[in-house]
Amino acid sequence: MLERVRPLGAETVALRGAPGRVLADDAVAVTDLPPFPSSAMDGYAVRAADTPARLPVRETVAAGRPAGRPLAAREAFAIATGGVVPEGADAVVPVEDVVHYDNDVEIPSQVERGANVRPRGGDVGAGDVVVARGARLGPAQIGALAAAGVAEVRCARRPHAAVVATGSELKPAGERLAPGEIYEANGVMLAAALAGAGAEVGTPASVADDESAHRSALERGLESDLLVTSGGVSVGQLDLVRELERELGVEEIFWRVAVKPGKPISFGVRGSTLVFGLPGNPVSSLVGFELFVRPAVLALQGHSQPLPAYAVGELATGVRRNAERDEFLRARTRLDGDRVLLEPVTGQESHMIARAAGADALVHIPRGAGELAAGVAARYLSLA
Ligand code: AMP
Ligand code: MG
Repeated sequence: MLERVRPLGAETVALRGAPGRVLADDAVAVTDLPPFPSSAMDGYAVRAADTPARLPVRETVAAGRPAGRPLAAREAFAIATGGVVPEGADAVVPVEDVVHYDNDVEIPSQVERGANVRPRGGDVGAGDVVVARGARLGPAQIGALAAAGVAEVRCARRPHAAVVATGSELKPAGERLAPGEIYEANGVMLAAALAGAGAEVGTPASVADDESAHRSALERGLESDLLVTSGGVSVGQLDLVRELERELGVEEIFWRVAVKPGKPISFGVRGSTLVFGLPGNPVSSLVGFELFVRPAVLALQGHSQPLPAYAVGELATGVRRNAERDEFLRARTRLDGDRVLLEPVTGQESHMIARAAGADALVHIPRGAGELAAGVAARYLSLA
């Protein structure tokens, strides 16, 4: 699937608008960070070679206001955290470590050169890479870019995603259900998931199980970078999605995966548009999104690590394995000291989205024979 993804172009984005976006180019520091030798403590700037000693305090250096002259031998400047360590000084003695007299401080012991001085450029140097291309910008990256003076960044364009939910039985929440109807869940859920992965999502369409309704919604959806459908992708008489997509020029790359839930997932392409068919059962849609669609959305944005980020925990209970398909159990994580225990929720059927909503992890149970015992290590994806 990733081989079929062509990363989108880039655009310039102000830092305020960049959280959650993926860098298209390396972002380089505008300034050394720190921009000057900076005090790590409230204390006294001195020459280490002068200590121990009783020294006169001749100047006060506040943050943002450098001293007017260099420090001379056998004197001290009071200095605040973040203050510019004056020329001539090579150490800062914390205020807690001195004895105060009227205008003097007593430094009782030998101070090391460089103590409590943050060297200029010690974090990153001007012109060096602060955040590399392919990184998704979270709070730490945004903070680093701001600190290094980067006001705008080159980011991948956000993918345009279309969502089409199929099924004549679907009604939007807020309306009254007629006999045989259910509330539409997947369109709303997938739109939320896509937005969370960085896509710009149009209003989800909900279409009846007839060809013309399908055709027009799919045709419109295929104009996006990414089309995600729900339902109608299995082997039922009214499962029309794959057939109509084929008519509309979608090349199917795969259909059906050895995953439970989510077996009938389909993936295809038309031009540069990626086309995902997720099953109608809401938990199958959710799992299919995490395993297939999220990586595609990240890859479209040039993310350097688009594949699912598994963590490792321990099964809290024994689990029967499925012989043919890798299974993804909905589970709750529980901390036991340093260990993450994975407790499958009750209600593992693929329609049980309300049970899945009580889980915070998808636990990967590789296909195989027999049972995995409690305590066995297992990979999981965080749903938090
Ligand atoms: P399908 O894959 O179309 O055969 O649908 C499988 C099951 O999922 C059926 O019980 C559908 O009613 C249900 N379903 C399909 N689409 C949705 C949806 N958008 N929201 C909630 N349930 C759905
Ligand atoms: Mg259906």
